[in-house]
Amino acid sequence: MMMNPEHETLRVELRAVSKRYPNGTLASDGVNLQVRRGEIHALVGENGAGKSTVMKMLYGLEQPSDGSILLDGEVRQLRTPAEAIAAGIGLVPQHLQLLPSFTVAQNVVLGSEPSRFGLLDQRAAIERVRAVSRRFGLEVDPRALVAGLSLGEQQRVEILKTLYRGASLILLDEPTAVLTPSEAQALFTALRALTAQGLTVLLITHKLSEVLDVSDRFTVLRGGRVTGHDEARAVDAARLTEMIVGRALAPLQVEHSSKRGLGLPALFSARGIGLRRPDGRAQLNDISIEIAAGEILGIAGVEGNGQGALADVLGGLRAPDHGRALLDGQVVTGAGVRAARAAGLAAIPEDRLHNGVAADMSIADNAIAGAYHRQPLSRLGWLNAGATQDMARRLMARYGVAARGPEQAIGALSGGNMQKIVLGRELDGAPRFLIASQPTRGVDLGAAQALRRYLVELRDSGAAVLLISSDLDEVLELSDRIAVLSQGEIVGHFNGGASAAELGAYMTGARRQAGAAALLDSPFSGEVAA
Ligand code: ADP
Repeated sequence: MMMNPEHETLRVELRAVSKRYPNGTLASDGVNLQVRRGEIHALVGENGAGKSTVMKMLYGLEQPSDGSILLDGEVRQLRTPAEAIAAGIGLVPQHLQLLPSFTVAQNVVLGSEPSRFGLLDQRAAIERVRAVSRRFGLEVDPRALVAGLSLGEQQRVEILKTLYRGASLILLDEPTAVLTPSEAQALFTALRALTAQGLTVLLITHKLSEVLDVSDRFTVLRGGRVTGHDEARAVDAARLTEMIVGRALAPLQVEHSSKRGLGLPALFSARGIGLRRPDGRAQLNDISIEIAAGEILGIAGVEGNGQGALADVLGGLRAPDHGRALLDGQVVTGAGVRAARAAGLAAIPEDRLHNGVAADMSIADNAIAGAYHRQPLSRLGWLNAGATQDMARRLMARYGVAARGPEQAIGALSGGNMQKIVLGRELDGAPRFLIASQPTRGVDLGAAQALRRYLVELRDSGAAVLLISSDLDEVLELSDRIAVLSQGEIVGHFNGGASAAELGAYMTGARRQAGAAALLDSPFSGEVAA
């Protein structure tokens, strides 16, 4: 009898694998997954669908409660990461875990050092790492210090580390979340080269394009179950979205027109904003931006380039060392949050778990944070419990928040529902200017699209919106104009028409417009008009 040819080529198979965590959560519910040798296979699904749990079981970090894992057709038990590594499995973590003060070679061989008389043999390490790097076409200087590498290069080192240990199945968890577009492209070129040599790649991704354009096949998880799988070329974005979300999502069609381009006055303007770190280095340098009523200005940039500081300063939370910002003629910089809010400013904080909500408090209590000084919620300093509950109920209904009721602790909600409460609370005061920092990070496709729609509606109602997002697709979709932030400076302004690749070159600092900081005074002169 002939062997089933498909069977022969399966690198990994999960057969009816279930995983129940000690707290009772059934994170995998009879999962069947087939990953063929030499393919890039995408694991997709909304938050909490069970993707990480599958990865953890494959890397020996969690044990299935039921079912079996087969590697190359044989049932295997992976009780620890060491056993997974021995079985040829490598994991590239989402948050890279290299030692910055060590060289690339030292990091790669760490834990499996070539030694002479028990001492680490540097030269041997460098040679071996160079050999692996050549063999797989992953260019990186083994002598370079990790501290000086970009995130994309550090990720390459993590991949090298798995290859050095003999991995032939590479697991990646949202590998492009922290990369620029060109770094992401380089990553997939490298992964393609690996699969061409017979290695197998299984990756978790939230980006449809990474399924459609670079994966061979995909498997969809929802609520711990496999709800679909197919060849990537057999589906389009709409169908894939439907498979992930469980229903069709009408595409968000955003029309763009730059109000500043039409010569309308700025509703919000910041001039020469500068902020120094305690050690004296510049965190923000001479930032000037202007936003008209009815306009979204997107700030694109790799995370950690001053986005957080910019949001804090413009939102009145931190006083800048230089410059000032005006909202409709009123100074908001250094005025304190309450004065900024009184001027019509609202903000969706980047780190909503720490700054946006009080996790232990109820939805109702969180719904009024920031609005507490407005009538009729507080009268003579006392909170009006009935009005608070009504407001929470109204927000829950208006924004489709899935929760038991206004008394439920907000910390128990999913990221998307929590963000809807924060956004709803901020929009409720009909702000004239909204600072939205990473508004959809960690939020499901369906909820993210609803949140984006609300931002566009706010814009269309005549508010000015500053969108700070490291999701370049989101910046491109929503913004009427785009400014790129790199190392605390605005290095480019774009009035529509810029491609992701072009913006990426500015994000990494590879390109900058001459005098970009000053360009907004005449935003459509010369090279700015893209
Ligand atoms: P995804 O990676 O798709 O977001 P996860 O595999 O992380 O999903 O989680 C699936 C479900 O299991 C979620 O409901 C999550 O809250 C739960 N979960 C994950 N890890 C644990 C754990 N260690 N203990 C209890 N529940 C967990």
